[in-house]
Amino acid sequence: MRWFACVVVVVACVFAGSWIGSAQQPGLSKDNGRTAAWQSGEWISYGNDPGETRYSPLDQINRSNVTRMGLLWTSVVGEGGGNQEATPLYSGGVLYAITNWSIVFAVDAHTGRELWRYDPKVDRSFSTPGANRGICCGVVNRGIALHDGKVLAPVIDGRMVALDRKSGSVLWSTRLLPEDSTGYSITMAPRVAGNKVIVGAAGGEFTPHRGFFSAFDVHSGRELWRFYTVPGDPSKPFESKAVEAAAKTWTGEWWKYGGGGSLWDGLSYDPEANLIYVGTGNGVPWPQILRGQDGYDNLYVSSILAVNADTGELKWHYQAVPGDSWDIDTVQQLILADIEIEGRVRKVLIQASKGGFLYVLDRITGQFLSATPFAPLNWANGHDADGRPKINREAYYTTTQPAVISPSSGGAANWAAKAYSPNTRLVYMPVGGFSSRTYVAIPFDLQAARSIQENGTPRGGRMPPQVVASPVTPPYIGPPRTLRGGYLVAFDPATRTERWRVEGGGGSGGGAVVAASNIVLQTINDGRLRALAAEDGTVLWEAQTGQGGIGPPISYQLDGKQHVSFLSGTGRGGGGLRPMVYTFALDGKAPMPTASAQ
Ligand code: CA
Repeated sequence: MRWFACVVVVVACVFAGSWIGSAQQPGLSKDNGRTAAWQSGEWISYGNDPGETRYSPLDQINRSNVTRMGLLWTSVVGEGGGNQEATPLYSGGVLYAITNWSIVFAVDAHTGRELWRYDPKVDRSFSTPGANRGICCGVVNRGIALHDGKVLAPVIDGRMVALDRKSGSVLWSTRLLPEDSTGYSITMAPRVAGNKVIVGAAGGEFTPHRGFFSAFDVHSGRELWRFYTVPGDPSKPFESKAVEAAAKTWTGEWWKYGGGGSLWDGLSYDPEANLIYVGTGNGVPWPQILRGQDGYDNLYVSSILAVNADTGELKWHYQAVPGDSWDIDTVQQLILADIEIEGRVRKVLIQASKGGFLYVLDRITGQFLSATPFAPLNWANGHDADGRPKINREAYYTTTQPAVISPSSGGAANWAAKAYSPNTRLVYMPVGGFSSRTYVAIPFDLQAARSIQENGTPRGGRMPPQVVASPVTPPYIGPPRTLRGGYLVAFDPATRTERWRVEGGGGSGGGAVVAASNIVLQTINDGRLRALAAEDGTVLWEAQTGQGGIGPPISYQLDGKQHVSFLSGTGRGGGGLRPMVYTFALDGKAPMPTASAQ
């Protein structure tokens, strides 16, 4: 028997857009010293603190001396072959990071000298387009975790490994995904909660795909619990009350497509509440009508979930895009902060989403507090009081009726790192330039178990859609569509207003750190590191590495000196530069590497 679903085809891409528009740090403790390490100037967690604010308490680099910033050292990270999307970690004089093909390495942070390297020897055919296995968006990993003398590393082919922090030798290796799994991968950074390491499965651009994430014992690698983000075959027992409830929001034979709801980016932890927060991706296949789910919410795709760290039990959920048809993954960074809203300090979760809304939720109860457009968008025209988006009816494209949707599936915000400062009470977020895509659904063969879309285009040369109507464009809300290009945007989540916007940056690639001296350090995918004034966005200093495929920066203290490090380079760009770690500090005098000097 053959099962048919669909793909989404990009008929057109349109680019245009710009627009301009306080708090206390959350009481994050009970976290095995992670908060203390953060406050001491180390960077031992992916988002720096468990609440993933990427706020640095360091203040040595400031507005008056930032022009003395210079390159201290570089270190070649490996063979390249993809973007450097990883956030490195720093602890005890050593930088740890992961690069293409899940190769993990440690370098002396004084000099960049390599201390050890671990190559999991991923089958290089893993990403072959058209193969039954595969990954949608490059052979990338976004990060690792440090805990208990271990480097906890995801391998893109589905393994989780624990390496001895001093030697890089393997302490345990286990699998999140079966060896023969198709279309699944791990690209997100694992995070530590207590003595557990949490990681989820990516691959929601393939079908069938059923999203989930798991907690492993840091000491043994034993899987302690697993949370499925969408329900499975209802003829079998449900794995949890959460998926039993979710099954009521699906119809037909959804499990044959898998449902979707993958994880590939955001995860944060509130140690006091003992809650893990994750975001989930799109449903599969993208268009709801061809999933046979017309009018159903399809929980928990495109949602933010709060889960008990000990049990894996769902505490609350917020579905940002009920029945998502537009690849509006809701997986972006989940920032935890305590902010005053209308005279009351709230423990909130903040997410700047692919869909162009900045969400503020009560992170204890899940109560919806606000959603504010920070990019021009037209898939929805606002939200009900309970947070349900009012999706425009014109946004529901079919096999014959295309629709022009903004933001495109590239997202207004995406995996580029955001930062939140308790000093300025602003979120600093790289935002993609305005873009839209024309979506239309076409059939494909589920049994092939191949990508349903890659960069919006079907694999395998399937038939084009029988479009009989002109595309419709739903009405826009949010910032006007007047300027082009990407931005760094400073946004006040309490008053829901944009404070400033500066050109440079995008939803995917690079990211931001904000330091106690009110300096924002930003990497941009065109190869730049720059420093901006956190209050008004004045660009104070910048350097050009000469290679894109840049990752988010970190800042840490070593020998009494504030350092800034990041990875950059694909190894296949112009000039032949190899991917490197770049480290900057005040009075750094190293020459910028060039291809001829390598
Ligand atoms: Ca997706």
